[in-house]
This record gives sequence, structure tokens and C-alpha cells, in this order.
Amino acid sequence: MAVRPYIVGNWKMNGTRSMLSEARSIDRAAERLIKVEVALAPPFTLIHATRKEAGLIGVGAQDCHAAEGGAHTGDISAAMLKDSGAGFVIVGHSERRANHGEKDADVKAKALSVLAAGMSVIVCVGETEDQRDVGKAESVVARQLKASLPEGEVVAEKVTVAYEPVWAIGTGRTPTVDDVSAMHRSIRQVLIGFYGEEAGAKVRILYGGSVKAENAAELLGADDVGGALVGGASLTADGFLGIVAVAAEMQES
Ligand code: PEP
Repeated sequence: MAVRPYIVGNWKMNGTRSMLSEARSIDRAAERLIKVEVALAPPFTLIHATRKEAGLIGVGAQDCHAAEGGAHTGDISAAMLKDSGAGFVIVGHSERRANHGEKDADVKAKALSVLAAGMSVIVCVGETEDQRDVGKAESVVARQLKASLPEGEVVAEKVTVAYEPVWAIGTGRTPTVDDVSAMHRSIRQVLIGFYGEEAGAKVRILYGGSVKAENAAELLGADDVGGALVGGASLTADGFLGIVAVAAEMQES
């Protein structure tokens, strides 16, 4: 696993102010678990409050619009997110790709706007079940990466990749450790080809898809897994901290 694993909770469209107590508990525990980098991506409406309540952990957003501003009713720009306290933005989540028709080019434009606003970006990629069944998982993910990632060696330090097999998100199903290892090795090769040997080696690759405390050691222990993007299990401090604790223990052993 990475020197300092990165565990990110994606609250999706969940959470009102009553959920800030979960963020506070996570933040308090993060003080003890310094070997792990912990972050939460609450809905837009809670970013500012989460940043105020949770001073130690990273706080980010789940999406943004690619434009700097203008006539885009209901959308939020990267600069607005930064202003509200976000330090990173997740782009290209499979739910955005599926529910909002986002293509790789849209994801790349969003990633560029996040970097231009001075934040870091988590770019999500992952194959569908059909694509895996016909043996195309690695080629699909490689194609998504090449078309979604922002270019340039300097940006590599601000980019994290999240590999999230679509069929594993919210389903309770996960790939085998061997499949995760093979995919992460393949992603690393793409990153090295894209950013060059040195910069490509620095990009963190998270695994996401039905991670919970019970399977975290297995999944985080797969080759080149630098942490996890966690959906359902991040909605309670107990569930999320269970995963963070596993990552911390793995650093100690
Ligand atoms: C996600 O939505 O990014 C995710 C990984 O969800 P879950 O952990 O619920 O599968």
C-alpha cells in the first residue's frame, strides 16, 4: 500500500446538517490516525459547514461544472467550490457518467477547471460488468484514462485516479484481489506512459466499490492500491472509521 493511504468518503446525495456530527467524529479520530490521509466529499450544501466543523480532514466536492461561471442554472464552478472550502473535487464518477451523460471529454474539462482553481482532482474510471465479461476491462479503463486525465507532468501531483468498477458500486460485490492488482498495475503503466516515469509513478490510485471494514484489508492490500473511495460505508463515522483503522493498522504491520 501507499506510504500514506488516502481514504475518501463520497456521501453522494446524502446528508443534511444533522449529519455534521458524523464528520466531526471522523475528524476527531483522524487526529489519532495520522498515518492515513482522510477526506470527505459531502454534497455541495454541506461543504462549507463540513470545512468549519472538521478542521483536520480533507473536504471536497463530488462534481463541478467545467466553466468558470455564467448562464448555467443549477451548476457550480470549481472556483465556487474552492471558495466554499473544498480542497479537491471528484470528477467522472460513474453515476455522473451514467445519469448525466458525461463523456471523457467532459470529465477532462472538469478536471482542468479544478486544477485551474487551485484544487486537486480525483478522476474516476471503471468498466461495466459487460465490458469485464468480454475481457475488455483493462482496455476500457486505459481508454477512459487517456481521454479523461489532464495533461502535463506538473499536474500529476494534483491528480488521483479512482478505479471503480461500475458493477461493484453500491452492490456489495467486489473484484478479486488478483483482478484489482492486475487493474492497478495496468493503470500504473498508462499513467507512466501519460505523465512520464517519475510523475506517473507519483499519482495515487484508489480502489472504489463496496469497500467496508470487513474487506478493506484485502482490497487495500492489492498491488498498487493507494487508498479507497468509499460510498455507502462513509455515511456513518463508525463505518468509515472502521476502514480508516484497517488502513492505519496496515501501515503499522
Ligand atoms: C462510490 O460511489 O464511489 C462508491 C465506491 O460507492 P460504494 O462504496 O457504496 O460502493
